[in-house]
Amino acid sequence: MGSIVELKTIGVVGLGTMGSGIAEVIARSGYSVIGVDLGEKAIDYADSRIRGSIDRGVSRSKITESDGLAILSRIQLTTKLEDLASCDLVIEAITEDLAAKSELFMTLDSLLGPEAIMATNTSALSVTEISVATGRPSRVIGMHFFNPAMVQKFIEIVSTVTTDQEVIDVCLEFTRSLEMEPVLVGDRAGFIANSLLFGYLNQAVTMYEQKYASREDIDSAMKFGCGLPMGPLALLDLIGLDTALEILDTMYHESRNRLHAPSALLKQFVAAGRLGRKSGQGFYTYAELNAPLVVDDSLTPAIADSGSVSGITRAGVVGSGTMATGIVSVLAVGGVSVIALTRSEQRSSQLRESLDTSWSKLVAKGKITEEQKSEYLARVTTSESPEALVGQVDLVVEAIAEELQPKCEIFSQLDQMLSDEVIFATTTSSLSVIEIAASTNRMDRFLGIHFFNPAPVMSLVEIVSTVATDPDVVIRCTNLMRELRKKPVQCSDRAGFIVNALLFPYLNNAIAMASSNYASIQDIDSAMKLGCGYPMGPFELLDVVGLDVSLAIINTLYREFREPGFAPAAQLEHLVTAGFVGRKVGRGFAKY
Ligand code: NAD
Repeated sequence: MGSIVELKTIGVVGLGTMGSGIAEVIARSGYSVIGVDLGEKAIDYADSRIRGSIDRGVSRSKITESDGLAILSRIQLTTKLEDLASCDLVIEAITEDLAAKSELFMTLDSLLGPEAIMATNTSALSVTEISVATGRPSRVIGMHFFNPAMVQKFIEIVSTVTTDQEVIDVCLEFTRSLEMEPVLVGDRAGFIANSLLFGYLNQAVTMYEQKYASREDIDSAMKFGCGLPMGPLALLDLIGLDTALEILDTMYHESRNRLHAPSALLKQFVAAGRLGRKSGQGFYTYAELNAPLVVDDSLTPAIADSGSVSGITRAGVVGSGTMATGIVSVLAVGGVSVIALTRSEQRSSQLRESLDTSWSKLVAKGKITEEQKSEYLARVTTSESPEALVGQVDLVVEAIAEELQPKCEIFSQLDQMLSDEVIFATTTSSLSVIEIAASTNRMDRFLGIHFFNPAPVMSLVEIVSTVATDPDVVIRCTNLMRELRKKPVQCSDRAGFIVNALLFPYLNNAIAMASSNYASIQDIDSAMKLGCGYPMGPFELLDVVGLDVSLAIINTLYREFREPGFAPAAQLEHLVTAGFVGRKVGRGFAKY
């Protein structure tokens, strides 16, 4: 390996959710591993987890049977800490508890050779505080692996003010030898990833606690709306609710940011022993310990009756921009006859051309036939006169400019012309749905149907009901979205609905973190992509969404919730003022 200290035998203490995975990752890279836990039960548990993982690798032909046996032969599991005496590096992954970790480090200090390095896998505790429990704080470092350690190829290397440069170099090199990407950060609660992740997770718990949306809908919204590998509540179950509670407590202690104050529900679950997958029950109930399979869906029954049909076969779409065109496309492809209401003949023909072009591309790629394209086109008509909708539609979806007044005007006009039966929907992303609904005399038949851009590609649709919306209207529109092969989630009328309310505070926090010079934009993007499996880092995403749009959304959230933690980051405001609003102008956080 050519490093200053050659690592041969690595100790791992604590073989739970993280430790067993860490031991396996290290053994897979050719090192000898000695794993320690408190009792035989814990050892058996770790042994079965590691063997199960190796067996899956063999059965999926990822590794050969002999490689699997070799990996297992490199792992020795024991309950005796003394067995670690010859280790060059010991990684601690015991319970997230400062006193327990400090005591362990003190013992390890007396057992290990003077050159040995001690690393903690703590998620949020102070590495500095842990280090001072030993007589060698300069040889103590944080090595924060991500869950599952076998999948997330990323480690935050946390140096303290006393960590030796040599120790840092060895750990960086060791990380690369595991074929994992390291990022070097200072000692701050939550480091990069958790500090950005846990505010968001906590906010999702609060959303669920307030019955704003069901757990399934919160999770689906973030999975399908942001392309995350799992929703926040399912992720908390994977992390372990006790660990999550400790992390939030530590972060709150350091930041005094009330968004980090653990939600009451999280505390109740932990007190009740519902710790997530590892105890078989958390937000969800699992088929068996550590199984991903959820067996319980009785807690939050879906509001919609999935068996019924929407009865909506004809729709009007108001607008001719990106969203309106996408929504017309979704409806027409799904078998609904659509009348697009635009402001001019020119806009109407642009909309038709745009649909023709995008469907022609699908024909060229062999995704649809020429006949299908003709069928879709035949379902779309355009008009510049609201009268064209009279007697012709079951639903009107509005997707014009994001301003209250014009939206109210068109709805009020249509309200007087169209039959009481027709359902009205706005696709606003930031205005209050009820404020728009109040411009009509059909508040009971008015709701939000929030599509994501590009509508034909993004499966998520938020179905937003106001205090006045008739539940039957919500059910019919939810069913329509299912008929259109979309993934509808239901929520009520509150700024940001589900996705933007959870996404934008996180993006804003990432900007604040970069501005504080704790980590670079590149390192923050890498941490979220490689550590947490996000499809894009926060800065990449901000530049794509547009900083002007992002600032508007953050301001809406800030105004509605009056939450100091939602105040827009100064750097975001400055970039918008300077006109550096992202990819669309060639410059945002990055230059294009
Ligand atoms: P866990 O509860 O699943 O496992 C902890 C293990 O440590 C248990 O097997 C327990 O028996 C053992 N243990 C406790 N005290 C011990 C001692 N004195 N000596 C030996 N073994 C002991 O916890 P976890 O989720 O694996 O978390 C472990 C550490 O990793 C924590 O610091 C946590 O913050 C951190 N971490 C967790 C995650 C995650 O997603 N769960 C991700 C990264 C880092």
